[in-house]
Amino acid sequence: MSDCVFCKIIASEIPGDKVHQDEQVTAFRDIHPVAPTHILIVPNKHIASINELTSEDEALVGHLFTTARTLAEREGIAESGYRLIINVGPHGGQVVYHLHLHLIGGKKMRYPMG
Ligand code: AMP
Ligand code: ZN
Repeated sequence: MSDCVFCKIIASEIPGDKVHQDEQVTAFRDIHPVAPTHILIVPNKHIASINELTSEDEALVGHLFTTARTLAEREGIAESGYRLIINVGPHGGQVVYHLHLHLIGGKKMRYPMG
């Protein structure tokens, strides 16, 4: 997707504070962090949102989550805990239409959500 900001970060066409990249996913720090750790984990392939997922993407989605676990350990927040969020569509608060998993931690999260 030529006009997608996350595709451009993945391809290093624009700067991004990347913390991980492999054949399937890229992770980079959110430009407006809401906590000491705020990382976005995204598929390298452009998928606009959860609504566009197909059964062929199941291994990829699993890899998003195991990458989140690995990065949480690396950030030192695995034991203290963290929150994983995927926003979907207007009511979900999705702003960037390239699927992304927010990994947020390093402070106590507020609850309830919504
Ligand atoms: P969402 O509301 O789930 O679509 O979240 C989009 C997130 O992307 C927000 O937390 C933004 O701060 C973040 N974001 C937008 N542009 C960039 C960028 N160029 N680099 C890093 N994070 C970004
Ligand atoms: Zn994209």
